[in-house]
Amino acid sequence: ANRSSEKHEGFEVPKVDVKFTKLFINGQFVDAVSGKTFETRDPRTGEVIARIAEGDKADIDLAVKAAREAFDNGPWPRMSGYERGRILHRFADIVEQHVEELAALDTMDAGKLFQVGKLFDVPSSVQLLRYFAGAADKVHGATLKMSQRMQGYTLKEPVGVVGHIVPWNYPTTMFFFKVGPGLAAGCTVVIKPAEQTPLSALFCAHLAKEAGVPDGVLNVVPGFGATAGAAIASHMDIDKVSFTGSTEVGRLVMEAAAKSNLKPVSLELGGKSPVIVFDDADVDMAVNLANMATFTNKGEICVAGTRIYVQEGIYDTFVKKAAEVAKRSVVGDPFNPHVHQGPQVDKDQYEKILKYIDMGKREGATLVAGGKPCGNKGYYVEPTIFTDVKDDMVIAQDEIFGPVMALMKFKTVEEAIQKANNTRYGLAAGIVTKNIDIANTVSRSIRAGAIWINCYFAFEPDAPLGGYKMSGFGKDMGMDSLDKYLQTKTVVTPLYNSPW
Ligand code: NAD
Repeated sequence: ANRSSEKHEGFEVPKVDVKFTKLFINGQFVDAVSGKTFETRDPRTGEVIARIAEGDKADIDLAVKAAREAFDNGPWPRMSGYERGRILHRFADIVEQHVEELAALDTMDAGKLFQVGKLFDVPSSVQLLRYFAGAADKVHGATLKMSQRMQGYTLKEPVGVVGHIVPWNYPTTMFFFKVGPGLAAGCTVVIKPAEQTPLSALFCAHLAKEAGVPDGVLNVVPGFGATAGAAIASHMDIDKVSFTGSTEVGRLVMEAAAKSNLKPVSLELGGKSPVIVFDDADVDMAVNLANMATFTNKGEICVAGTRIYVQEGIYDTFVKKAAEVAKRSVVGDPFNPHVHQGPQVDKDQYEKILKYIDMGKREGATLVAGGKPCGNKGYYVEPTIFTDVKDDMVIAQDEIFGPVMALMKFKTVEEAIQKANNTRYGLAAGIVTKNIDIANTVSRSIRAGAIWINCYFAFEPDAPLGGYKMSGFGKDMGMDSLDKYLQTKTVVTPLYNSPW
């Protein structure tokens, strides 16, 4: 990508030429076997940004062949963890030199706020990659005591060729969530970015090559889910699949894995996370936290806190203030630094969200903010808040994946726990209180993979993130995530002169 910038309605828009539009297989950018391409569009306008080579089963086969060869006979799994770590550190350094381009590509492709991408999303991906680069030489097994007659130890070995299937909401972050630990473990990778957002993953493939990641170790194959994605899930020569996306597709991936070679899967799926605000909270702080939990990245976050439970003593004040904050939010071009919320990723998501808003109205919830599309082009939706939401309403149960908050009232701690757990999902939860006894009790009682007390979206590379219940299993980030890409071999020998 080439960088320059142009003035645009009073703010700078970095101009990035899209250079990488082909599949990245065995260290080369190549056309799809079928010769087919698909369009990736800019959600600010709906216009086509570029045509991308459309990977299909035949291309996944080629990518797996390259990854298999690189795993079975190449240097990557055989070199020391230290050497792999050095290459990954170099990769992180090079990514860091291209923070602006990557942030701009994700803004163009996914409608994400450019400033947030530049200052947070892409730098935190670099930090995550460095975390795993540093972990590459710290993988070890255990010495087993066993009986008096045996000597044993375990070896931690890379699982082999891994397939990654990722969504569109955090294109660069998702790429490194998967590729970082996979490569550090010594695996070789075939990754399929989401069809809506292929640009940053292809750019990262180019940067990986520049950093010295050997050919065949990292393959990036954009394409559609039902073709390229399904080919990964059912491939007989892929040893593991790590999937992030919807619960519905997660089920298909697990089924395909079971029906093919029984490859292990990890699934990071949808959510409908609660934020519980107790009477003793600072109301302004709690309102800001709840608004951030629901509306960050236009609500397109798996761990978004979209069910907000507020204790009765502060409920009315909370509703009034939350509506005021939402109405003040500036929706518009995500390159504009004064904008708080950009467009939804595409027309399908935009229409799906508007349908849910309509359903909320029909179900009898009260709209206190937003509720409409906005702008005269592109896929913009106002930050929307419903009150009087009942636990069994569709808008309280379904993941909307858009800027829609459901506000609900509760009386007791027990009731808050019961309501928070009344969901098929279990990805995250927020608790706002100064009472440590309540915070500890509620943390233990919520069935979710991440609990944030008096904060939200508290991501760090060493903090594992992943679901309970139908939000999936297997963690991203942290050493738990590295472990997904390792398998344990037990080696045993009898001691001298000992009968076994
Ligand atoms: P999606 O499930 O439609 O698509 C995700 C990926 O799966 C895409 O790359 C898609 O092409 C692919 N895919 C689609 N059909 C497939 C099939 N039959 N076989 C194999 N692959 C297939 O989800 P989405 O709409 O792109 O993303 C939104 C969802 O992702 C939300 O539910 C969100 O909660 C979830 N998500 C979860 C996390 C997490 O960490 N738990 C993070 C981000 C997003």
